[in-house]
Amino acid sequence: MCVGCGTCVEHCHTNSLELNDEGKAERVGEYCIGCGVCAHFCPENAISLVENERMVRIPPPKPN
Ligand code: SF4
Ligand code: SF4
Repeated sequence: MCVGCGTCVEHCHTNSLELNDEGKAERVGEYCIGCGVCAHFCPENAISLVENERMVRIPPPKPN
């Protein structure tokens, strides 16, 4: 489903994504923290997250 727009690459703050030789997004390196920003911005819904021990869990805000 990836159309190679590069949006996920632009938004990843750990530089964990690149476009490969086929123009498709590919995870590189070991710094992905599973924040989901790439999946959120992907216009094609082409990214799914796989839960693992590096995934960052952001607690919900506390009520005032
Ligand atoms: S995975 Fe989604 S945001 Fe990333 S290059 Fe492909 S289509 Fe674009
Ligand atoms: S989940 Fe977060 S850190 Fe991992 S590739 Fe996507 S934007 Fe980058």
